[in-house]
Amino acid sequence: MKIIASPSKYIQGKNIIENFKSIVETFGKNNLIIADSFVTSIVKEPIENSKGSKDTKVSFNLFNGECSKNEINRIVKIVNEHNYDCIVGVGGGKTLDTAKAVSFYTKKPVVIMPTIASTDAPTSALSVIYTDDGAFEEYLMLPKNPDIVMIDTEIVSNAPTRLLVSGIGDALSTYYEAKVCFDAKAIAMSGGQSTLAALALAKLCRDTLLAEAYEAKISSDLKLVNEALEHIIEANTYLSGIGFESSGLAAAHAIHNGLTVLPETHHMFHGEKVAFGTISQLILQNEIEEAKKIITFCKKIGLPTTLEELGIKDNIREKVKEVSIASCAPGETIHNFPYKITPDMVESAILTADALGKL
Ligand SMILES: [Zn+2]
Repeated sequence: MKIIASPSKYIQGKNIIENFKSIVETFGKNNLIIADSFVTSIVKEPIENSKGSKDTKVSFNLFNGECSKNEINRIVKIVNEHNYDCIVGVGGGKTLDTAKAVSFYTKKPVVIMPTIASTDAPTSALSVIYTDDGAFEEYLMLPKNPDIVMIDTEIVSNAPTRLLVSGIGDALSTYYEAKVCFDAKAIAMSGGQSTLAALALAKLCRDTLLAEAYEAKISSDLKLVNEALEHIIEANTYLSGIGFESSGLAAAHAIHNGLTVLPETHHMFHGEKVAFGTISQLILQNEIEEAKKIITFCKKIGLPTTLEELGIKDNIREKVKEVSIASCAPGETIHNFPYKITPDMVESAILTADALGKL
């Protein structure tokens, strides 16, 4: 069985926040917006003054910073007490995941508005739940994708460039992992095998990044919106989002997960570790020329290509062994490969990636 999953509607553009009320009022007049204090300070006024019916109301509730069961339950209670028609999450991954979870428990529609383009999570039917102290607790698999994902490119252009570049690193893996899963007929997070459509979006994602990421990075540095930045935000968020959810993950994300066992990599962003995982995956597949092309690309836009850049500076052999074992843990997406991948193979790929990255 093949499945492709996506949000019902994806809206992207410069200053679309000016149409906020007219977009959310399709679900009702009484809307709850969840955002942290920093994001609230940026979006509250434009949202309150946005175009829409006079009787469309927007209420703000401050997100406490952690997508935990306690925080979700707190907001579920508020939604039930006030009988809101729609939940809107505005901000980064944890805010958006909380809004998705609240929507699931209250059976209300959800609008997701990312203010950064640092991962491909916003479009997916998944929330990552943490404890109140910020430790990973569980994945909450949701029965549906968000009703609307809307992204204001002006807001994203004002975020730090490193976040956009990290999103490029996350999106860079999508095609290479999707292709492994497509060929292996692996079951993706969507619950089915990949489709031609999902694979085509993943390929378009990779091609768009290679062609336009550098120009988009410059736009982000200058805090300007141009076509290249628009295309990269779409690649990081939408193309990569559908590509990974409906095709699947393979070695790049498993190696990312492996790297997280080393505390010295914790200061690096998700997409920065995934980029190194992508280079390692290509070497694992013996795609050396493609790996070299990706290394050149990563260096140009400022993604790490060596273990040292990831923070791993001593006892390298020992630590890479540890990472490789964790990458091949039971249930890891590396087992989506059509042939068996062992920690020895991963260790050799990571060390080779590091050596090539130093050249
Ligand atoms: Zn990712």
